[in-house]
Amino acid sequence: MEDGQPGPGARSPPSDSPEVLLHGVFALLGPPPKAAPYALSLTRGGELRMQPVGSAPAGPGPVLPLADCIGCRAFAAREPQQGPAAYFSLFCYPFRKGWGHSAPSRQRLARTFRVCGAAAEPAENLRLAETWAGRIRELAAPGIPPQGGVTWGLLPRPCHALLLLNPWSGTGQAQQLFHSRVQPMLVEAGIDFTLVVTERRDHARELVRAGDLSQWDVVVVLAGDGLLYEVVNGLMEREDWQTAIKKPLCTLPGGSGNALAASINHYAGNARAAKEELLTNCTYFLCKGLHAPMDLVSLSTASGKRLFSFLSFGWGFISDVDLASEKYRNLGQARFTVGTVQQLAALRVYKGRLAYLPMDPAGVSSPSSSPEPDSHPLPCSNGHPVHMRPQPAPGVLQSPPAGSLPEDSLLVPFDQPVPQHWTVVPEEEFIMIFAIYQSHVGADFTMAPAAKLHDSSIHLFYLKAGVSRLVLLKLFLAMQKGTHLDLPCPHLHYVRVRAFRLQPFTAAGLMTVDGEPLACEPVQGQVHDQLCRVISGS
Ligand code: ADP
Ligand code: MG
Repeated sequence: MEDGQPGPGARSPPSDSPEVLLHGVFALLGPPPKAAPYALSLTRGGELRMQPVGSAPAGPGPVLPLADCIGCRAFAAREPQQGPAAYFSLFCYPFRKGWGHSAPSRQRLARTFRVCGAAAEPAENLRLAETWAGRIRELAAPGIPPQGGVTWGLLPRPCHALLLLNPWSGTGQAQQLFHSRVQPMLVEAGIDFTLVVTERRDHARELVRAGDLSQWDVVVVLAGDGLLYEVVNGLMEREDWQTAIKKPLCTLPGGSGNALAASINHYAGNARAAKEELLTNCTYFLCKGLHAPMDLVSLSTASGKRLFSFLSFGWGFISDVDLASEKYRNLGQARFTVGTVQQLAALRVYKGRLAYLPMDPAGVSSPSSSPEPDSHPLPCSNGHPVHMRPQPAPGVLQSPPAGSLPEDSLLVPFDQPVPQHWTVVPEEEFIMIFAIYQSHVGADFTMAPAAKLHDSSIHLFYLKAGVSRLVLLKLFLAMQKGTHLDLPCPHLHYVRVRAFRLQPFTAAGLMTVDGEPLACEPVQGQVHDQLCRVISGS
């Protein structure tokens, strides 16, 4: 154990415990009480224990769990006349109860301690402050979660981020949110960044398609899901896509559709959060630096387009809400509620043929991607198992020649019928078809509560025509809590699949991919396990 300078009147906490890494008495700066002396103990278990000294009676002091800490830095007094003292500041974001009934959310808590030994030189004080700051940073680094088959990673330090910001997304406040919320946390965490404000649609896509990515450790998107969709597809358009797509990506919610951010918040076990609270949670994940693999879905259209999607593919009701509510984007996330009410009034039926390859319940996919068991392991139609024909082992990503895209080994060309072991949905009239691969379809809608970042699954929902408006409304209200699958609605079907094909009979409406419009035409897609990486909580 290394000792700091004991101050006058110090009462000795159990500093000789083998659990204590560093111990010292320093003055806590700031209001109130000003410059109160505390005996600090830094424990192996990752806690900073603060014991008030000098005043009696001294009860147990506060404990700062360093799991909440995003950064710590040491510095000398700015002016020589301020004396020989040095300082260290730590920045924590513990959960705190919000106002009223709101769920706890991460809120900033900064503590600065003055290091000033009785006869110490300024350089000596600074060295001691640096020792503390360094140890605190080490203990604050997240542990790699134990999870079979999943390779977690940690952003390096120092860390350089490319930050792409869509000034047009959401209510148009992304730049303001960056300066007020994101930038201060990045500075506290010691993450360097280069900010690029997009000037037009596809600007981010072109940038990551052509740019030198080696200078960045992470590509951050402060926008809605649409800008991340550009980035994913820009990376997949590169000659070196196989390495480029492994660059950790990070989504910071600044748009009106922030479904991936809300999903990552949900996977981390956090309570539902929206707006600035969700942004703080996601910026906290970035500062901690943990990244995990994420599945992508490769979509092919009959006209020859090839797209990569991290969130969803849809046709019908939900896609219509998404697209029709574009004009209400200044309402932020509320645009989807307004859009839902509007689309309920103008309900349409979409005709087409849907087929899918069910998920193998035995999980015989590649060893690194076996699905995790959850509450919906089998394809089901409102709780009733759906007949499944035998299927060959799902395709494992082969190594394609350099430059060529990953092979869709589960799909056959559109001019051939789907393979025998696929399921063809007998109904051909739908209110909506929605394939989602994350839990949330928007910050307020938990559509596939069991979904994970890497579960090798497409969560396919379809709603048959004939459902009443009232039931539809109930479904969408229940989706806010993720309880829609518990409702008795024989029109709603939910099945976990590896691949699907949708053949519209007429080019009605627009389809959506990750919330972005796609002209209506035959589309098929399959999941590619763990193809990219994304900043995530545990
Ligand atoms: P939102 O969630 O509010 O829809 P997104 O980030 O998803 O926000 O962006 C919406 C659309 O804006 C996307 O299609 C994206 O390609 C496009 N876009 C990106 N940058 C710009 C820009 N500077 N001006 C206009 N559109 C842009
Ligand atoms: Mg969007």
